[in-house]
Amino acid sequence: MPLIEIDRLSVTFHQQGRDVRAVRDVSFDVEARESFGLVGESGSGKSTILRAICGLAPISEGAIRIGGVPVKSPRDRAFARRVQMVFQDPYASLHPRRTVDATLREPLEIHRIGERDRRVTEALRDVGLDASFRFRFPHQLSGGQRQRVAIARALMLEPEILLLDEPTSALDASVQAEALNLLARLRAERGLTFLMVSHDLAVIDHMCDRLAVMKDGAVVERLDRAALASGGAVEPYTRALFAASAYAARDALPEPQPA
Ligand code: ADP
Repeated sequence: MPLIEIDRLSVTFHQQGRDVRAVRDVSFDVEARESFGLVGESGSGKSTILRAICGLAPISEGAIRIGGVPVKSPRDRAFARRVQMVFQDPYASLHPRRTVDATLREPLEIHRIGERDRRVTEALRDVGLDASFRFRFPHQLSGGQRQRVAIARALMLEPEILLLDEPTSALDASVQAEALNLLARLRAERGLTFLMVSHDLAVIDHMCDRLAVMKDGAVVERLDRAALASGGAVEPYTRALFAASAYAARDALPEPQPA
């Protein structure tokens, strides 16, 4: 049985008297320990799918199942222990007046989990930050360090699933690569399942076993890594996405010549 099942999901927002159909009849499954990507231009409905899984957007039609069981509304504590989300902008998602320590401790307090000092220190170490970061505030951290703290927080409850919404697109290119490598390492070490959203095919290609391409709220193409590597995309939209991404640019560039 797949770990995540998105089954004919539609999400419609009602805004100022009109309907915005953000997600239209989307279905896909993610297996346990798999890394699945959703790629597509801005506004194609990718984040809304992650938000619908977490209960931050409505399920207008269809169903979302985790481990074969439809999600409960509102999502309960058991859900939070299985599924956590990492947002694009760690500055917005971290409380500005809370120390790193308080941020990492909070989920443990809510879920009445003990050994908090040890867990907080280990969580920081696991994302490559030493204990000196514990009593800093978000404004005392770089963007990359803030995103590491956000990742550490998402892992405090030892979830099975991470929902990653453009987790590195607010970061500079070199820092972005570090953060992606950190996520890949954590996934391998902990056997995590990733559902990751990005507008950048290079990021999805680097991180994901399979992907779905979205346009105007619908899935227009599904690909696995082998198909990506062999240029197997058939939809013109996917090809355009390829052409626009750093991935295509990198491959198209001539090898540097010795001077
Ligand atoms: P993506 O993640 O692919 O950039 P989104 O899922 O954020 O796309 O958005 C899909 C569409 O839904 C967009 O047209 C967006 O404006 C709209 N949308 C998203 N959230 C809301 C909301 N809370 N209310 C109204 N419209 C929304």
